[in-house]
Amino acid sequence: MNRVLSLLLALFLPFAAQAQEDTRKPVTILISIDGFRADYLDRGITPHLSRLAAEGAHGKLRPSFPTKTFPNHYAMVTGKRPDTNGIVGNNMIDPRRPDVTFSLGDPKQSLDPFWWDEAEPAWITADKAGVRSATMFWPGSEVAIHEKRPPDWLRYDRHVGYAQRVNTILDWMRRPSDIRPAFVTLYFEAVDDAGHRFGPDSAEVNAAITEVDKRIGDLTAGLAAIGQPARLLVVADHGMRAIDESRVIQLADLVDLPSIIAVETGPYAAVEPAAGTDNRVYDALLKPHDHMNCNRREELPERLHYGRNPRVAAIICIAEPGWSIIAGTPSWPVKGGAHGYDNQDPQMLALFVASGTGLKGDVGTIDNIEVYPLLMLLLGVAPLPGDATGELAKRLP
Ligand code: AMP
Ligand code: ZN
Ligand code: ZN
Repeated sequence: MNRVLSLLLALFLPFAAQAQEDTRKPVTILISIDGFRADYLDRGITPHLSRLAAEGAHGKLRPSFPTKTFPNHYAMVTGKRPDTNGIVGNNMIDPRRPDVTFSLGDPKQSLDPFWWDEAEPAWITADKAGVRSATMFWPGSEVAIHEKRPPDWLRYDRHVGYAQRVNTILDWMRRPSDIRPAFVTLYFEAVDDAGHRFGPDSAEVNAAITEVDKRIGDLTAGLAAIGQPARLLVVADHGMRAIDESRVIQLADLVDLPSIIAVETGPYAAVEPAAGTDNRVYDALLKPHDHMNCNRREELPERLHYGRNPRVAAIICIAEPGWSIIAGTPSWPVKGGAHGYDNQDPQMLALFVASGTGLKGDVGTIDNIEVYPLLMLLLGVAPLPGDATGELAKRLP
């Protein structure tokens, strides 16, 4: 009897496996290429991304201000701008924790849920709705936000190779259906790195673009080999602009440096008057300057949607695109490229490519918070209220 059973199993198992293959649900993969400026797609060096764009949709994402990595990655997975998602900068101070500074390079603070709990990222909401997530890096994905992490996540390590990142996702897709993720993130930093060091028009940036494009080709080929249908949303957090040491605004020429805390410097500066300083800091910074515009956080232009969160520094100075604000000796040489400028700067616009989603053609320029409602619609999970209008999601057929 047992022999008969095993014979039957041997005969029918392949069909059962085939049937399971046939009913594979599509996975939604959100891929971030950090610092991939929207127009890099026109360089003619991205065969894989260009194919995905041609088969599906492409457009330009307008980042939220400040046009930095952490605020914008969180904006795209929460549908909330930095002012409401709580990640108001790569560096920030909260008046409720005045003794510490959040900084993306300092895990003690950057992994503390205190900073992230003002919003709930897509992977948590999806998990609560029974949609399994897995993150192959994404800012915030290592943090126990609202006491939850994605079921599969990895501690950010820039040394993890790109082939390994892609293979990790393919391995997840080979799992049995009950533990196979339906929402996956993937992150690449090489294009941003090269943009900072060598500038957006460098051969090094083109080499990084080529490398990442190839890895995305490996991913789509790997998915096809497994028979795993996928919807890909390929995004970037911001663009990149050339800077040089001839275009520098030195805050020390305007104020005594001990009278300020420069929480952030570069394309924009977040300045907190030091404890006990009088109005001189405000007077010196708020007056008109060449190549820089400073405002009290309450008086920033409404279109920036920035300044209501208590984590935003008292004075926000935004440099004219291409200029750099420094306070004393900068920790990085002022050369190569930078981002952080006004989000109206066309060179801050970021990549958007969608494939397998039903979106088609050129979707134009869209606020990056609109990625969230689209993502949630693809996952079949109700989005949480936020700042997005749903204009992109509404275009799904
Ligand atoms: P930015 O200073 O805005 O250009 O930030 C880009 C840098 O953020 C990249 O070089 C990454 O190394 C870093 N980064 C990206 N994701 C994470 C993460 N999850 N944790 C810490 N750093 C990260
Ligand atoms: Zn970035
Ligand atoms: Zn960067």
